[in-house]
Amino acid sequence: MQKVPDLYKQLDAELIQLHQIHSNRLKCGLGCSACCVDDITVFEVEADNIRNNYKDLLEHGLPHPKGACAFLSQDNSCRIYEHRPYVCRSQGLPLRWLEDQNQEVVELRDICPLNDEGRPIEELPEEECWTIGPFEEKLLRLQLKEYENRTTRIALRELFNNNSILPY
Ligand code: SF4
Repeated sequence: MQKVPDLYKQLDAELIQLHQIHSNRLKCGLGCSACCVDDITVFEVEADNIRNNYKDLLEHGLPHPKGACAFLSQDNSCRIYEHRPYVCRSQGLPLRWLEDQNQEVVELRDICPLNDEGRPIEELPEEECWTIGPFEEKLLRLQLKEYENRTTRIALRELFNNNSILPY
């Protein structure tokens, strides 16, 4: 069974192709934190990956004030970028997913409003969108295997030991 870092490696290899295809429309970059919201939760398996890689930050660092992700720094960059969770890696791209609606499977799509300019996402071929679902399944399988079939999720903010917040 793959571990979280292996899964991220595999994921990034897939995402890089989509980033190349959409390089003209993606405005994502250092300092943009539009998708770094405050209510992100992760499975224990991803939380432990952050704990293992950022012991000092979690023990002594201060979380960003509420209203944005606790891991944002004062200059709006991600303090755990190299080991950021899955959900942060696919943000910004055209997203597609399937939903059951009235006993019918429908496809839904979305993209960050900052990246909406360009060919309408409804017209993009499937393979030019990031499909939500298959990678989540892999993460879920890993979580179930490593954590005795639990599906506990942890808020990113809860990973900090410190209750104070970064001064602004
Ligand atoms: S972990 Fe990093 S990339 Fe993800 S929401 Fe928080 S600051 Fe943004």
